[in-house]
Amino acid sequence: MSDYNWCHGSECHTKETQSRVRGTGDNKVLRTIKIKQGRYNGYQTGIWNHFCNNRCLFDYLQTHIQSIVAIAPRREALETPIKVEKEKYESYRYRYTDNGHTREPYQATRTTIKSVDNDNG
Ligand SMILES: [Zn+2]
Repeated sequence: MSDYNWCHGSECHTKETQSRVRGTGDNKVLRTIKIKQGRYNGYQTGIWNHFCNNRCLFDYLQTHIQSIVAIAPRREALETPIKVEKEKYESYRYRYTDNGHTREPYQATRTTIKSVDNDNG
């Protein structure tokens, strides 16, 4: 298996960068970027083994989005059970006046989303 992939960006070979120039004399071309697999120490290899940069990734998504979503269509919303906790706490707000500002206490509400145990069998 090759250690390299060609960038899958549909416009990769049209971007005018020195890194894409190949050939000699009057026979020069802009060539698709060759990507070494596992670059970035394995960070997001599923994506970055196939695309040289974000621009090429999004060009590809834009070109092939209908085929991509057809692979794993989302036909209904997913849901994650949660608990929403609200708690009151003392806070302060600043009221600005012509002479500066005053600091005033008030009762604030903090809303926290908590995950719940989904191991219901
Ligand atoms: Zn590219």
